[in-house]
Amino acid sequence: MIKVRHLKKVFIAPSGEKLTVLSDINCDIHKGEVISVIGPSGTGKSTFLRCLNRLEEPTSGMIEVDGTDILNRKTDISMVRRRMGMVFQNFNLFEHLTILDNVTMCPMSLLGKSREEAESQGMALLEKVGLHDKAECLPCELSGGQKQRAAIARCLAMEPEIILFDEPTSALDPTMVSEVLAVIRHLASQGMTMCIVSHEMQFVRDVSTRILFLNDGVVYEEGTPDQIFDNPQKPVTKAFVNRIRTFEATLPDSHFDLYGLMGNIRTFCSKYGVGLRSMEKMEHVTEEMLCHIIPFDGPLKLTVDYSEKTSRISMTFVRENAGDGILDAVPDDSLSLMMVKGMSESLAEPEPGTVCVVI
Ligand code: ADP
Ligand code: MG
Repeated sequence: MIKVRHLKKVFIAPSGEKLTVLSDINCDIHKGEVISVIGPSGTGKSTFLRCLNRLEEPTSGMIEVDGTDILNRKTDISMVRRRMGMVFQNFNLFEHLTILDNVTMCPMSLLGKSREEAESQGMALLEKVGLHDKAECLPCELSGGQKQRAAIARCLAMEPEIILFDEPTSALDPTMVSEVLAVIRHLASQGMTMCIVSHEMQFVRDVSTRILFLNDGVVYEEGTPDQIFDNPQKPVTKAFVNRIRTFEATLPDSHFDLYGLMGNIRTFCSKYGVGLRSMEKMEHVTEEMLCHIIPFDGPLKLTVDYSEKTSRISMTFVRENAGDGILDAVPDDSLSLMMVKGMSESLAEPEPGTVCVVI
């Protein structure tokens, strides 16, 4: 249904600076598919959706919708947009029109429907999203979740062949997210073709037939929800789905600021909700490793990866330019080594000079 090849989008700042947001996007969306687009923020997910219906003008590449090249100047883009509904983060309802008028306006003006026909269809759609009793209300009388459901009804009234959702729940109070997701789930179960940008990972996992992971301007990895969430192949996808938070410190020599480092570790832990016990273990491991186990003969680098999903913490100590093993040189009866082993799940030196401690 939609075929995207070598899609590129470069923004040019007023200063003349170029920002390549999408460098080479390739993908196909088939009828009946529910495609979710995920990835770190700022990677161009919204830009990608907006290019699909040319709300944003692509810099180069090809987008075909049902065989029509929509980037061709001769293509009537309003006809293409009519077939592609879009639901935005901020609803974009007309504030001065009732909910029913919001839903019936475009079918009457663009599809040439009579008021009677548009209203009966509109009421049926409001019923479908659970808002039939709000038809005569103004948007300001509705909650955020209700407004977004009204926006979905308005989109459906145009009888689109595909709906593009750009973070439909990210402007909502947490209590209202599920009512909107329930409506989208229902559409998916009815076979509606959809392309969804969302940070609601459990929802994305449940509802999608396929997931595109966008990173660095390309479709970095794609697959079924199980592939992407349970068995991602590439490092950035792995870090993203496991919600890995990273802390890094470089310690120039043995006079490094231990208390400053501990403070930074604490700040990191409280920011990402690492438990108190784990935090204390991290501090002990850091102190034992840096003050008693690893010899300083050049800078050391410490990297902490914390997975918000699994709570796994791995601490990697790298002695730069080290040719020989660290752990081999530490006596087996070293008290420090025994303490670190006691506090950790595993302790290993995968390559000389790199010690990895999992807490
Ligand atoms: P995402 O939706 O993945 O968070 P966006 O598509 O919104 O990412 O934005 C990607 C990048 O493009 C960001 O760095 C953003 O600042 C930039 N960007 C988006 N729209 C514009 C614009 N109209 N002009 C200049 N830069 C833009
Ligand atoms: Mg966005």
